[in-house]
Amino acid sequence: MQEKIIKDSTLEKMALENVFKIFNSNIYPMLKDEDIQFCEELENFCLELHPKIDKNQDVYSLMPELGKYGYIQRINQYKDFTPFGIKKEVLLAAIMSICDPQLEFARIASGNLCGNPTFHHGKTEEIFKVQEELMTGKAIGSICITEPDRGSDAVNLNTICTKTDDGIIFNGKKVFTTNGPKSKYFVSYGVYDTKNPRDTMVQGMVSRDFGGLETKRLKINSVPRVHISHTILDNVRVPMEYILGDNGDGYHNLFDGLVPERLGLMGSALGRCWSALIYGLIYTNLRKQFGRPIIQHQGVGFGLADLLAKNTAAASLALQAATIYDDKILFAENPSKEAEKWIASVSSQGKYFVSKLSHETCYEVQQQMGGISITDNTPLDELIDVSKTEEFIGGARNIQLLIIQGRLRRIMNDL
Ligand SMILES: Cc1cc2nc3c(=O)[nH]c(=O)nc-3n(C[C@H](O)[C@H](O)[C@H](O)COP(=O)(O)OP(=O)(O)OC[C@H]3O[C@@H](n4cnc5c(N)ncnc54)[C@H](O)[C@@H]3O)c2cc1C
Repeated sequence: MQEKIIKDSTLEKMALENVFKIFNSNIYPMLKDEDIQFCEELENFCLELHPKIDKNQDVYSLMPELGKYGYIQRINQYKDFTPFGIKKEVLLAAIMSICDPQLEFARIASGNLCGNPTFHHGKTEEIFKVQEELMTGKAIGSICITEPDRGSDAVNLNTICTKTDDGIIFNGKKVFTTNGPKSKYFVSYGVYDTKNPRDTMVQGMVSRDFGGLETKRLKINSVPRVHISHTILDNVRVPMEYILGDNGDGYHNLFDGLVPERLGLMGSALGRCWSALIYGLIYTNLRKQFGRPIIQHQGVGFGLADLLAKNTAAASLALQAATIYDDKILFAENPSKEAEKWIASVSSQGKYFVSKLSHETCYEVQQQMGGISITDNTPLDELIDVSKTEEFIGGARNIQLLIIQGRLRRIMNDL
């Protein structure tokens, strides 16, 4: 903290332990015993980690700490870290966001966006080695879909792949590569034929060690502890053992991966929603103006009540969507086609709704708290900055709406 103007007694009440206590009282009634035990262990881990976090340093030295306890991701089983599944990933994302929203941003890019494909595709010794490095936090990972001229239109890529005897060469430029400057591994997408991207898309695990990959950090003020890059793939030769999807399989893998990615991002956003609201609730109960706690002024109290209702709705949506994904798809012997269709739309609805809500919650809470909330005396301003930034990742707002609208149009086909 550069200069403290907040009262010590208020700061004491804002301790992370208390924030978790309020979060738990709102979330635990929706959880099973196994989920609650998972949350308790994770929160204890966060309470130990929190004092070691230096907000003037980037987040990357913290990743091996997460790795030690299997908290780089929890969608898939890695070693004997249990329990796992999308619901656990959503809870991990939410609780890690409360602990450190920028660390969570880097974690989800490395563990979920880059790490998740290593559990489903490739299945070579080389990919398992990549997985181990990512899951222990020894190496950082990124995903490279977006290009300078291909943002929302993630299908029509300009990155060109060329087949050789023993591998595939990637040539192209990517942008907004979260973790890029710090990453060793990059799940990268390119096409053999720009006129036929769907049937020719390739998904490869590019290692910085292959040579030809360069990352240049972008200046993004709102997440100073996370490095995000312009990434250049200049004749990068990727051996076949590192190819996760060839000849159009890359296209299917990309879209299959977006569902767990968006559900996870919904979890991160949920954590920021609750974190902002809880800090606001504590502060406005303690801060007095005109002789009474400001929460008792209707203008403040009703605004926070409105946000509580929305945050509870967001939590039940996120947990319900994750439960259905686990029960009917991830752990099901015969995954339900109906549930797959539903979750493809609901993951977009949830990502759209909760990430927008996290920005709204931060903004509204800041207005209710007053000036203190834009100083570094409370985490509010960091939370709004991360919320603003994370609304883009995993597809910007309109693209989620485009996907949801597509589902609405198809509804007529079923009649
Ligand atoms: C901080 C940050 C981190 C990111 N991390 C990664 C990452 O790790 N890896 C990665 O590959 N990408 C990453 N992204 C990229 C992110 O997914 C893109 O920003 C997003 O897909 C939108 O692309 P764009 O920014 O080029 O916007 P554009 O596609 O140029 O869109 C500009 C505007 O037009 C709208 N628009 C575009 N097409 C339509 C349409 N058909 N209908 C209606 N509206 C439309 C968009 O919604 C947006 O409002 C990140 C972005 C940011 C900002």
